[in-house]
Amino acid sequence: MSETILTDRIPLDEYAGLLGAAEIGELRALSRPLVGREVCMVNTTAVGGGVAEILNRLVPLMEELDIRIRWEVMKGGEDFFEVTKAFHNALHGVAYNPRKADFGIFLDYNARNRAHLDLGAEFTVIHDPQPMALIEARPAGKAHWVWRCHIDLSRPNEDVWNFLSPIAGRFDASIFSSPEFARQLPIPQYLFYPSIDPLSEKNRDLDAAYIQQVLAQYKIDPDRRILTQISRFDRLKDPVGVIRAYRIVKRYFDCQLVLAGGGAADDPEGRVVLQNVRREADGDPDIHVLELPAWSPLEVNALQRASTVVIQKSLREGFGLTVAEALWKKKPVVASAVGGIPIQVIHKHTGLLAHSVEGTAYQIRYLLSHPDIAARLGEQGHQHVRANFLITQNLRRYLTLFLLLDSHS
Ligand code: UDP
Repeated sequence: MSETILTDRIPLDEYAGLLGAAEIGELRALSRPLVGREVCMVNTTAVGGGVAEILNRLVPLMEELDIRIRWEVMKGGEDFFEVTKAFHNALHGVAYNPRKADFGIFLDYNARNRAHLDLGAEFTVIHDPQPMALIEARPAGKAHWVWRCHIDLSRPNEDVWNFLSPIAGRFDASIFSSPEFARQLPIPQYLFYPSIDPLSEKNRDLDAAYIQQVLAQYKIDPDRRILTQISRFDRLKDPVGVIRAYRIVKRYFDCQLVLAGGGAADDPEGRVVLQNVRREADGDPDIHVLELPAWSPLEVNALQRASTVVIQKSLREGFGLTVAEALWKKKPVVASAVGGIPIQVIHKHTGLLAHSVEGTAYQIRYLLSHPDIAARLGEQGHQHVRANFLITQNLRRYLTLFLLLDSHS
């Protein structure tokens, strides 16, 4: 776990103030049979992206429950991440013609990682497709292996899925973020919603003075409307589409646009997308394109809290933790009706959904001209997150799954 960050160590009891002591007691009771047992989480990046965000909080909480948890980060070269990014997009339904060599690169890096990662835990959770072929290192005997897929698999590229599905079939169980993402597999499939941590630096309350300081640091005017999208610079997050929507809104309302994103260590496309964004912004002083350091949760928190409207105009989205983060902060959200977003944004109840640049602009204009409705959507969004998408619920799901797997062995 040497490369992982795990900065926030928040005692579980601190969540009792927010969630009630009963819920925390329940977690402790559930975890008792798992005390001292080994769990290993595996993904491909310690910072950047939703999976790392969740693991950064889940791992310390499991540690506090005296579970011997490790977080292994698989290593890959640029060729590996190019292939797995293409697989990722293809599984989300983006057109792709894989070369035979791509599958070889995928398998080769998995084989190399099998040689040096410690994969002997009793419970191993593999996040997303990149490390799936590590399953070959599964020790004989009582080890349970789970594939946690964070991708919208409802319309996968057939070539890629035909290659990966036999590997998926070797796990004991799989986890998806929505019933719609589940595939035909010979193993049990479970539904876990991704989650945010309400007490982490990313989501906890902030002083107004700190928020002002962050705005000043990035030269954002605190007295004018702020539209924000926080996302890795990735085509599927459609930052260029966000700028186009902003331009339409700007004809009617004075506003600024903040596009903030850091590069995830496993995303080779970021640089090109950032260039396209700058070209599209064309020097507009009201468009703030911010390249945040990979780990800057307090700044992200402040930018979200300072926003008048939060946008998530993704073209594809597994879940979109940024949406949950904004809703938790009671922000009115306009987001695309794709992937896991409609689980969070219930149209006209917890936010507004859109299907195009024009639709996004229309919904933003609606919120800017109806601040009462915007505030109500934000409030209802907060309640929806509290009921469904907090880290303690995610933790409970994992504990229950481990107990279930254990009872079958
Ligand atoms: N994020 C961040 N800094 C950035 C961009 C994103 O900390 O510059 C965080 C964001 O707040 C969220 C996560 O990265 O917690 C992104 O997760 P999401 O599910 O929205 O998208 P993914 O990147 O996994 O596709």
